[in-house]
Amino acid sequence: MKRVSIFGATGSIGQNTIDLIRRAPDDYDVVALSGGANIAQLAADAKALKAEVAVTAYPERLSDLQDALSGTGVEAQAGATALAEAADRPADWVMSAIVGAAGLEPGLVALKQGATLALANKESLVTAGALVLETAKASGATLLPVDSEHSAIFQCLTGEDIGSVEKITITASGGAFRDWSLEEMAKATPEQAATHPNWDMGQRITIDSASMFNKALEVIETKEFFDVGAAQIDVLVHPESLVHAIIGFNDGGLKAHVGSADMRHAIGYALHWPDRKELPVERLDLAKTGQLNFQTPDPARYPALRLAWDVMEIGGMAGCIFNAAKEEALDAFIDHRIGFLDMATVVEETLTQLSSDNSLIRAEMTLDMVQNTDNHARATARHVMTTRRG
Ligand code: NDP
Ligand code: MG
Repeated sequence: MKRVSIFGATGSIGQNTIDLIRRAPDDYDVVALSGGANIAQLAADAKALKAEVAVTAYPERLSDLQDALSGTGVEAQAGATALAEAADRPADWVMSAIVGAAGLEPGLVALKQGATLALANKESLVTAGALVLETAKASGATLLPVDSEHSAIFQCLTGEDIGSVEKITITASGGAFRDWSLEEMAKATPEQAATHPNWDMGQRITIDSASMFNKALEVIETKEFFDVGAAQIDVLVHPESLVHAIIGFNDGGLKAHVGSADMRHAIGYALHWPDRKELPVERLDLAKTGQLNFQTPDPARYPALRLAWDVMEIGGMAGCIFNAAKEEALDAFIDHRIGFLDMATVVEETLTQLSSDNSLIRAEMTLDMVQNTDNHARATARHVMTTRRG
C-alpha cells in the first residue's frame, strides 16, 4: 500500500489525482487531503477515501468541516500550521496541487520528511527553486514534475545525459486569445480569459494561459528543475496542445513527447514512476489529427513571456517577486480593477522597482525570507496599481 497525501485535493489537479486513486483503492492508503473553500468536496472525498485527516486552508471554515466530517472518523483541521503538520505525516507520495505561493510550505515539509513530491505547484520552483531542490537533496527525497510540459521533458530525458541537450522547447496553446488582436486583448474580461480552448484547468491558471504568464512561470520552472541555461529554453505556440515538449540534442536529433491534453497522464506518470502503468487517457489517432502546427509567440501580444528571461537573468529572489506581483495583478484583473494587458505592466514595474535592491535580491533563500519577500512584492505591486490609477 502506498501512503499518499494530496494538497489542493479539491482543485482541478487534485480531483484528477483522486480519480486515479479511486480506480485502484486497494493500492493506496490516504493520509491527508487539503482544500480551501470547497468544504463539501473536501469532506466527501476524505470520507470516501478514508483519509486520516482533512485540512481546510481557512481557519474560519473549521467548524463547517468538523460538522461535515462528524462521525466519520476523519480528523478535521484548519489553517497554515495544520497544513504543514499534515504534510509532516509520514507518506510515500505527496501531490502538491495548491494554487499559488501558498503551496510552497507544505511541499517543503513533505520533502523534508522524505516523501516523493509530485509537483504541480509550479510556483514553488519559481519562488524558491534553490530552496526546494536543496531540501530534496538534503533528505534524499524525490521530486517529480506534474506540469505537463515538465513531465514531458522528464520523460524525454530519461536515459539521456543532460550535457547532450542543446535546446528544450515547451509548447503553449496560446490560450483563449490566441487569435485576438492587441486591441481586443486590451479590452478582454476575466470571464473571456477563463475559457481555455484545449485544457480544463482551474480559473487562475486558465487566465495565466491567456496572458502567457503561465508559460513564463513554466520557462523559469524548466530552468530550475532541469538546471539548463536560459538561452537553451524556447517556447512555441502549438494550437493542438498534443506535443508538450521537444528536446534538441547535440547530434541534431529531436525527441518530443506527444499525448492527449489530459492531466491524468502527467499525474499518473508521477504516481507510478519509475514504472509505467495503464492510464484512462484518450489514445491519439494522429491520422485523424492530421496536422500539428507550431508558431513563434508574438512578443507584442504576450509581454509576460519576455519577463521570464528578465527574471532568470536577475536570479535570486526575482522569481519570488515576479510570482507575487503576478498573483496580485491577477487578483486585480479578476476583480475588474485593471485590464488584461495591465497585468504585465504591473509585474514589470514591480520587478524593476525591487530588482535594484541587491540585499533583497541576493538574500539567503530561507522559507522566512521567501515569505517576507513575497509580502513585500505584493505590497509593492498594490502600490504600483494605486499610483497608476491615481
Ligand atoms: P484550482 O484552482 O483548480 O485548485 C486549487 C486548489 O488549491 C484547491 O484545492 C483550492 O481549494 C486550494 N487553494 C486555493 N487557495 C489556497 C490557499 N490560499 N491555501 C491553500 N489552498 C488553497 O487549481 P489547479 O488544480 O488548476 O492548479 C493547482 C496547481 O497546479 C497550480 O499551481 C497550477 O499552476 C498547477 N497546474 C495545474 C494544471 C491544471 O491542469 N489544472 C496543469 C499544470 C499545473 P478550494 O478550491 O477548496 O478553495
Ligand atoms: Mg503546463
